[in-house]
Amino acid sequence: MVTLVRPSSKVCNDTPANVGPITIQWRGADSARTPGVRALALTDAQIPDRYLTMSDADLDRRIESARRTLGSDLVILGHHYQRDEIIKHADFRGDSFKLSQLAADRAAAKYIVFCGVHFMAESADILSSPSQQVILPNLEAGCSMANMAQPDDVEQCWTELTSMIDQPIVPVTYMNSAASLKAFCGRNGGIVCTSSNAVGVLRWALERGKKVLFFPDQHLGRNTALRLGYRQDDMQIWTPRRALGGHEAAEIQATTFILWLGWCSVHARFSTEQVRWVRENYPGVRVLVHPECKREVVDLADESGSTELIVKRVSESPPGSVWAIGTEINLVSRLANENPDKTIVSLDPVICPCSTMYRIHPSYLAWVLDELVDGRVVNRIAVDPDTTRWARVALERMLAIQ
Ligand code: SF4
Repeated sequence: MVTLVRPSSKVCNDTPANVGPITIQWRGADSARTPGVRALALTDAQIPDRYLTMSDADLDRRIESARRTLGSDLVILGHHYQRDEIIKHADFRGDSFKLSQLAADRAAAKYIVFCGVHFMAESADILSSPSQQVILPNLEAGCSMANMAQPDDVEQCWTELTSMIDQPIVPVTYMNSAASLKAFCGRNGGIVCTSSNAVGVLRWALERGKKVLFFPDQHLGRNTALRLGYRQDDMQIWTPRRALGGHEAAEIQATTFILWLGWCSVHARFSTEQVRWVRENYPGVRVLVHPECKREVVDLADESGSTELIVKRVSESPPGSVWAIGTEINLVSRLANENPDKTIVSLDPVICPCSTMYRIHPSYLAWVLDELVDGRVVNRIAVDPDTTRWARVALERMLAIQ
């Protein structure tokens, strides 16, 4: 049985149609404070209007025709949170890190079209070879959580922390962050983590430092530290642009984890009331949530884990299993469609897709592929060499501990 939406379900006001374009703060490789603050988009081409009015069937035909023409020169990557109309054209689907690794393994592909958000395309560029070009179909597809940690603010935080604390501090950035922040971690003895390896990464960090600065997602940082046996008292939230993050010096000196005030607008919606509701209404349900959810939701769930773990758990469960899932709705819907012998519901009755992921529409995919067929690369994401070098250092530290 497939159940997607409870009877009271409605769509949240933050649907893509109602969301205006986000501002991606492009800053070039010449930033005085942090070299390579952002990857550069090498073109500023605009999608022609005709792509925005094409029928779905025409768009599908154009995309498939371009795929055939480009052959092995092209690989299309689709993040789990992409809509089905995109996923059906993807050569691979997965989470951001898995997709970046897949891209790096496909050296024959000259063009990597990443159907995801900006930081994912940056990571693919960092991990791929110099002969490969990474394309993000819509440059407006950013990540609101990644944008909550601006490089200048992290630099300011670091300056304040290192000037008042004698003990070693290890910076840890979530994969969902700008390339420049991965490079910041590389330069400063830090590391990158994903939602699947955060426990191992924090252990690594605590072997090298007395304190951890974790950004941009406070919830992943908190949930992981609690899993390691630390207490809420061992953590402080750092509010950017406030002196000492809004704390007294003694509070910062006494704490172990400094968690950036950042969150995912999709995962922060899930609540304990929703967990209780599904338990009352779906006997035998197992509640599975992403660790970007709030602590109290993770505590009440049966399990938390990355999108890859969520896919694995549901796919491998026996027929008749009942799941309530706390992650982005496109993935939940797809799991329900692909597992018709199981009951799969979204934990959130107010269905809310990731509005920035949703900006990858088939119109944009068709456009960038047509341009490739005509010998033009539009919407390329290229990280400058210095940022790439240091971001790789942080990523390789992470890979070494897996
Ligand atoms: S789901 Fe959350 S973390 Fe993922 S891209 Fe969307 S806003 Fe960013």
